[in-house]
Parts: sequence; C-alpha cells; structure tokens
Amino acid sequence: MTKYVRYKFKNLISYGILDDVSIREISSSPFGEYNLTGIEVSVSDVRLLAPVSPSKIVAIGLNYNSHLDGREAPSVPEAFYKVPTSLIGPEDSIIIPKEVLDNSLSIQPEAELAVVIGKSCKRATKNNALDYVLGFTCGNDVSVRPWQKNDLQWWRAKSSDTFAPIGPVIVSGLQHDNLRLQARINGKVVQDQNTSDLIHNVPSIIEFVSSVVTLNPGDVIMTGTPGSPGDIKSGDIVEVDIGGIGVLKNFVKNEGESI
Ligand code: MG
Repeated sequence: MTKYVRYKFKNLISYGILDDVSIREISSSPFGEYNLTGIEVSVSDVRLLAPVSPSKIVAIGLNYNSHLDGREAPSVPEAFYKVPTSLIGPEDSIIIPKEVLDNSLSIQPEAELAVVIGKSCKRATKNNALDYVLGFTCGNDVSVRPWQKNDLQWWRAKSSDTFAPIGPVIVSGLQHDNLRLQARINGKVVQDQNTSDLIHNVPSIIEFVSSVVTLNPGDVIMTGTPGSPGDIKSGDIVEVDIGGIGVLKNFVKNEGESI
C-alpha cells in the first residue's frame, strides 16, 4: 500500500508519499510517472491539503440501506455533482452559510468512502473499473437537509463552499470493500457501518458514471453514506474515520466567524 499526500511546505505545494511521520516528496504527481526527489519532510512541519484537486466530484446518494429511511433503493447509482469549489482539506473549516443559520436549517455531515480516479476513463466495465482507480480517501458530503428535500436540484444543499472535505491521504492498493466507516461529532460516534454494505459497489459505480462522463485523473467519487448523522453547529469537530485510510478532521464555523 502507498499513501499519497498533497501538502504545503514553505509556500510550495507538492505531492509526496507518507511513511508513518515522514513525507518523501515526489517529482510530479501520483497520476503519472514520478520519481522521488530525495527531499524528506516531517508531517508535523507541513500543512496537509486536500490530497487531490479534481475536475469534478461525483457523489452517490441512497447507497446504504440504513440511510434510505423508507425511500426505495435506486436501481442504478443515484449520482449527482459537487463542484470543485466545495472542496476543502484536512483541518479546514466547514462554513455554515448565513441562510442556514438565519433559518435554523439542519446541516449534517455524511461520512463516505471516496474513490480517487488515477487514469482517464470512459465506459469502464465492472471487471476493469479498478484499473482506473489510484486509491481511496475519506470524504464528507456535507448536506443541508431542507434544501436537499425541497429544492429540485441539490446544488446548494450539497455543493455550497466548503461542503466537500476530503483527505487526509490517498491510499492505493487498499482492499476497499470491507472497511469500517465512522463519523464522529465531538468524539461521539454518529455513523458506523462497513463499506461491504454499499448497495452499488465501487466497480458498479465507476461503470455507471463513466458510461455518462469521462472521469479524469484526480476526479473524486463519493460513494454514499450510511445511517442518520446528527446536526452540526459552529464549534463542532467532525471526523470521518475509515479503516486503513485514517481520520479526516474538520472544524465547523458560522459564515463570518474567523476561521
Ligand atoms: Mg452523501
């Protein structure tokens, strides 16, 4: 297994390979040929960024039975987009929009296994889908419930600025279909499931999504969330914890509060 990180050190952004507490810088990105540059830094001396800068983020809704809440399981993956401007990285803050605060709307995290595409991919099949995957990371599909329920489109419910935390690492070579997936709010477990419970599994999702759109290197697919996460509010700490990947931790702030 290889753990890729993207990080800022002395104002330079690089990709590297994480080994325990040290990062070995690589010459370009994990999406093509690269070499080790010989530069090594301690993870405590860098700021970890979202591990990739995607051209698009596809997310899958209603993909665990425990999240259906009376709704019918979709016969094909229920895909939607989160725009790249919604992306944030580890230890960044999820910002609750003013309109959500003013109307006391429910806003919730959604812990999700996130797939990072490694190679350009159109019309992959279930059998070869994993050949196009660089690895897996933790994702959080932050959602404003009344907007999700009442708007025709989910663009603001799920794609407002800061609503797509991912990270902290991309793990390649990971057996992705039997991983414990948890969300915690201030240390309290609010979601706890296994990725083996996905209704549409990762190869099926890639087959379906890539039959419609070309997936580019770096694109991210969030695979769906289990259960019923609770609401978040300013001051909370949200963690998405996936076995074999690690913990994606984010803070919660109200719009206008200092970050
Ligand atoms: Mg979701």
